[in-house]
Amino acid sequence: MIYVKDLAKSFGDNHVIKNINMHITPGEKVVIVGPSGSGKSTFLRCLNLLEQPTDGTITFDGQEITAPGVDVNKIRRRMGMVFQHFNLFANLTVKENIMLAPVQLKLKTKAEAEAEAVRLLKLVNLEEKADSYPSQLSGGQKQRIAIVRSLAMDPEVMLFDEPTSALDPEMVGEVLELMKKLADDGMTMVVVTHEMGFAREVATRVVFMDGGYIKEENNPKDFFEHPQDPRLQDFLSKVL
Ligand code: ATP
Ligand code: MG
Repeated sequence: MIYVKDLAKSFGDNHVIKNINMHITPGEKVVIVGPSGSGKSTFLRCLNLLEQPTDGTITFDGQEITAPGVDVNKIRRRMGMVFQHFNLFANLTVKENIMLAPVQLKLKTKAEAEAEAVRLLKLVNLEEKADSYPSQLSGGQKQRIAIVRSLAMDPEVMLFDEPTSALDPEMVGEVLELMKKLADDGMTMVVVTHEMGFAREVATRVVFMDGGYIKEENNPKDFFEHPQDPRLQDFLSKVL
């Protein structure tokens, strides 16, 4: 589904992503962990072309999306992205937030988008918040809305960049629950997180990034129980 080949990204002299190769198959849940500054966010942002890679190629469903002349917006629509900070539109209600992109891009009529918004709000048990504004929601509620707003675009892949890092501890569970539900429904997911419990339980593959490289990747059991790379051993000793 997604082939990443020899990917590199520099900001000036700062070589943030050095040489990443990765193949993500449909339905996979790839969890990326690693120290701060190791390039995790930059890698995710390269995947949906929020950053233009310096080198290498990304192929998505057979199309090389890093080739010149590709319609970046069209690609981004097919990859939902959820950030640490929810980025909801403060001046729109919850329902309007969810309806906005599909209607603006003329992918759905207003009535279709509204029906879909209601369905998604039911999915996350937030129907009663349809007409509230983001400022009236808790952090966990905001993030669940941000996730279903992405889902309203019917993405083929969902990218998550530390979706629970800005939340109060008691809100983390409800967001992880929703992500687990998505995973169970077969969504292809790439998740950067510090939630090792989630990685263990949901990941089909855990990837350790360090210094712009993938230093190790494995199924969750072997990743956590038999880490090989000394940097990963050190990292796990601090986070587990
Ligand atoms: P964290 O766990 O703290 O979120 P990360 O692994 O996501 O870290 P990145 O955000 O990808 O790391 O950053 C990796 C490096 O790239 C850092 O040195 C950062 O300063 C640099 N960097 C990221 N984005 C930019 C940018 N837009 N311009 C310049 N440098 C950047
Ligand atoms: Mg980051």
